[in-house]
Parts: sequence; structure tokens; C-alpha cells
Amino acid sequence: MIRLILDNKAESFEADIRELVQEFYPGEDFEIHTSNGVHFTNTTQEEKNALKQAKATGEVAEVNKKSTKNRARMASEITPEGVEEAKIRLSFEVSASEMPLTGVRKEDKSVIKAELYDTLVGMTGKELPWGDLTGIRPVSLVSPMVERAIEKKLLNDSDADRKDGKQRGLRKKDQFSDLGTECGASSENSSLPSFCELTDDEIQDIKDDLTKEYCIKGEKLDLMTDIALREHRILNRISDITGRNYKEGWSLYIGIPFCPTRCLYCSFLSNTINVWEKRLGEYMENLRKEIRYTVSEMCGRFRKPLQTIYIGGGTPTALDKKWLKVLMDMVHEECGSANVPILCEGRSAAFDWRNTLTGMPGIVEFTVEAGRPDSITKEKLKILKDAGVDRISVNPQTFNQKTLDLIGRKHSVESVIEKYLLAREVGFDNINMDIILGLPGEKLPEVTHTLCMIAKYRPDSMTVHSLAIKRAARLTLERDFWAGIYRAGDENEIVAETRLQEEAEKCTVKTDGTHGDVSGDSESLDKKTEFRYPEITRMMMASSYTADLLGLKPYYLYRQKNMAGNLENVGYCVEGKECLYNILMMEEKHTVIGCGAGCSSKVVLPSKDGDPTHKRVERCDNGKDIRSYIEDVDKFIQRKAVLFELI
Ligand code: SF4
Repeated sequence: MIRLILDNKAESFEADIRELVQEFYPGEDFEIHTSNGVHFTNTTQEEKNALKQAKATGEVAEVNKKSTKNRARMASEITPEGVEEAKIRLSFEVSASEMPLTGVRKEDKSVIKAELYDTLVGMTGKELPWGDLTGIRPVSLVSPMVERAIEKKLLNDSDADRKDGKQRGLRKKDQFSDLGTECGASSENSSLPSFCELTDDEIQDIKDDLTKEYCIKGEKLDLMTDIALREHRILNRISDITGRNYKEGWSLYIGIPFCPTRCLYCSFLSNTINVWEKRLGEYMENLRKEIRYTVSEMCGRFRKPLQTIYIGGGTPTALDKKWLKVLMDMVHEECGSANVPILCEGRSAAFDWRNTLTGMPGIVEFTVEAGRPDSITKEKLKILKDAGVDRISVNPQTFNQKTLDLIGRKHSVESVIEKYLLAREVGFDNINMDIILGLPGEKLPEVTHTLCMIAKYRPDSMTVHSLAIKRAARLTLERDFWAGIYRAGDENEIVAETRLQEEAEKCTVKTDGTHGDVSGDSESLDKKTEFRYPEITRMMMASSYTADLLGLKPYYLYRQKNMAGNLENVGYCVEGKECLYNILMMEEKHTVIGCGAGCSSKVVLPSKDGDPTHKRVERCDNGKDIRSYIEDVDKFIQRKAVLFELI
């Protein structure tokens, strides 16, 4: 257990401090001292009860552990000041009042984390791949910097042009001003930066600022900067086609919370479709009502063009062909011409918005997750194709049959290949494959096999997930059963692998292959044991290497709480086929409204601080229960109405 002692300035940053310390000491519990006394995090309920009792009586209380899981720690005692000294592995004091704080929360957080990070690096000799960043959207920190640099560059260009009288740079700005007037766009539109490439020096300046602020260097710094630059370029595609910037528009997410069977690691709202077959009609009717309301508010009242549609779940193709057709018709009926009055105002004929691939004017992307191959048929693929769906996912997760059986995906490896080829035959030329690293029982050779199969079939994009175990997953619920099965990236595995490495680093290898102490006779020692990354990191590196070989570039990235090995999820894609929705949603680039059970909505608004590169995000959700969605959709529509009042 780690003891954290926080002074009154540090205590309001407790969660940030704890998360950072935890990344250096994975798997540790915390005893935290603040001006309000002592409390625990990540400890057992019995320890919390004992602390309560000790505080109330002012005496030592025994920890009464009832569950078998906790028997190993049965003997502990707790005082009003916390656990016995002997149980504290490390005591750590954070005195923020001695740091150069400014009183601005964001800046103070950055100062405290940077100081703490330096201290922890000094103590452990370890550097973290993501520096002191503990958030889930590292790219979102770079994007505003990129936008600011581009805006500055455009302004400098236009100043220079004005001076030499050529008006070169102004042409770029004028394009947007014209658009603003003639398309009836808001004034927000005319101030948006156009696209221009930054020079290597300008990019290096951004990287230097990131290193200074977040202690991040090397590979991850390059990755997040690369992605931010690429995202900016990709999103520009929307204004190229529709004449409207992505910041003016919104995206629609439709949730179909049904699957053929439930996977072991699933933490989404998803139910086996057989159970709900009789109530699908009601579900669809409510979905239509919610979509209709949403589109009329967003496009009708707020005049915001709908730019991308994403249908996920669950597995939308778990619907039979009749209901899938109903769903596709519904999308066209409710959204198909929603943008026309908005985009018709002015000179939008200069753009290609009437002839978008989706067949719905101004909607530049229509994605459906056809994730599970056991839900795909040729007829369903044709229904999607005819409806203008231009991007689908066929998700193997792994190409190892043993793992598929173990995680409850009731389909074969062959069926993934068969359905993928079928989708190609039907004409889909933008197919994504999801794979998961850290599945039970898989090590690097199994992942390498999966990557070889990806290389053989060459999907247009590959999304690499590190298995994040969330509370709702069966893998968590059945923890005892799975305890004996290896899982790369599991916290215990990471701790064990890190300790092994630490031990190995203290040793050297002799010429005869036996180990000796570094401090021993140097003559007989050959070389220091080489650094070995944890298994999950090596899997991630292999995926990135494969993507590179296939010409797939990283274009979106997010980290998750509970992420295996402190790693990330990365989307790789051939240039030009990236999923716009993934970027818009993941980076909170514009408003995304979710319709259907289990969905959430996020409205992206200008920040109250007046900085155009900052934003404010307001949310609401549709609960986590299919029955309540079917029985009372008006309740969720009402929640949306409250959210929409903020726009
Ligand atoms: S296919 Fe996806 S949504 Fe469906 S059960 Fe499996 S993990 Fe969950």
C-alpha cells in the first residue's frame, strides 16, 4: 500500500496525483491523508469498514475479512490514522503550496503533475511512455495547438500578401468568407482556419511545448502529433465536399443493442436478439420517433447540417433482413433530405453535397458495424449497399479459433474470411477489421498469427484495441473462473512482468548462460540482460509494424481507464478511407447525438473562456436498459430537449 500525504493545495488534485503514482506502481492500493483525515482507495470494503470503526472509537480496529478472496490479508489492523506502518510500501508527500502555482486550475494541475512526474522518475528510474498524461484523449491536447499554429500561419501569410500587394493568402480566407455569406453560414464559419501544411520547425515547436507541459517524449509524442495533423487534414474533407466546416455540423449515432450471443469481454448494452424478437417492432417505432425529433431540432431548428451517420450497438446486422431494411428505410426517410434546405441557401452548388456516396445530400459518410460474421448474409450486405452505406466493419477480434471459443464468439475463423470476401463481392471497398490485444490465453505468437491474416486479406482499416475490462463484462463477473488463464496486459501480469524485468536488470548474463550480479567480477560477465517489454507492449508494437507494412496510417487514438499495460486503442487506415465519425466522436470535434437504447449524446459548445480553440461538452444519455427505452422513449426525448436548450 502507498501512503499519499497531500497538503491543502494538492488535495483538490487527488485523483490526478493518485492516477499518476499508480502508473508507476501498478496494482497498489492507496491510503490518502488530507486535511479531512484519512481515507482509502482501491482497498477492500472490510478495510474501509475498519477505518470507519477506528475513527469512531479512536481505537485500533481489526479488519474482519469475510470473503475468501481477501483471506490472504486477514491479519491487518487499522488505526484512526490508517493501516499499520509495516503495510506501507512507500510514503509520499505532495506539498503543492511550495510549487509555483498560479491559481488557474488547468495550469496548476500541469505544474503539480510535472513536478510529481520528475520526482517519480528520479525515485524509480522509469519513464512512462505517455509522460504524465493520464487522460483518455491525448490527441485532443495537440489539436488546439495545431489549429492555433495553422491560424497563425494563415494570418502571417495574408499579412505578407497584403504587404506585397499580391493578395495571395487572402484568397484562402476569402473562400471561407464567400461561403459564409452565400451559403448562409454563421459568422463562426468565416473565422475558421483553412488548411495549410505546417513546416517541420513549426511541428517541432508544438512537440517542444508538449514535452514541456506533459513530460512526454519519443514515440508517443510523435504518434499523437502525427495523428493530430492527419486528423486536421482528414476533417477538411467535409468542407471540401459540402462547403460546411465540421464544426458547424453534427453526427448521428444509432444504437441497435442486440447481438447473436454475448461475448465474454462485452461491456456494452447488448442482449441476445432472440430474447427481444417480439418487441423489435416497438423498438424500431421508438427509434424512429427519437430520430425524427433529433433531426427536426438539429437540422430544422438549429440549421446544423447532418454530416455523418454511424449505426453501432450491439451488432446492427443481428437484425434479420426485414428489420434491417426497415432500419435503412427509416434512416433515408428521416435524414435523407434533412440537409437540403440548409445547404441550398447560397452557393452550395459549387460543392458536391448533392451527390455524396451515401445518396443523402450533405451526409458524407454512412457506417454500419457488421461486426459479427455470424450475423452477416449476402442479402443483408446488399440491403446495406443499396442504402448507401459506404463503410462497414467485419471484426475478427482474433484469428485463433481457440480464443474465439473461449470468449464466447460463436463463429469460426473461416466464417470471418468468408463474410469479408462476400462483402468485397457485394462491392464494399471500405472495410474495417477490429482486433483485440490481451485476449485470454493469447501471447505474441497468437497475435502475430492474427496480424499475418490481416496482412493476407488487407482490410482498408484496422482498429487495434487493448482489452479494457469494465465492470459489466462477464470476464469481470466471472473473475475467479478466469483467474488461472493468462491475459497479457492484466494488471497482475504487468506487475509480474515489470518485477521480473527489474530483477533481470540487476543481473548480467555470463558467457555460459548463467546469471550473475552486476556488482560481481566484470571479466566473467558478458552483457547486461536486455530490456524486454511486457507482452502487451510487444503485441502493440507488432500491430503498429504490420499496419506500417500494409500502408495503414494511424488516424485516431484513445486511451481508456483499465487499459491493458497503460496502452491505447489505435485506428489505422489507408489514406482517404478514414472514418470521419471516429475522429469527430472520439476527439469531441463536433456534436454527436445518439438515438436508441444505451446511447449517449454530446453537444460540443464554445468554451466560456472565449478561446476559439477551447470547447465545452454537455451530455445526456438514454440509460442502460432496453426495456425502459421500449416502454418510455419520451423520457429520453425529454432529456434531449433539456440538452438542446443549451445549443
Ligand atoms: S459483438 Fe460486440 S456488442 Fe456484441 S456481445 Fe460481442 S462485444 Fe458485445
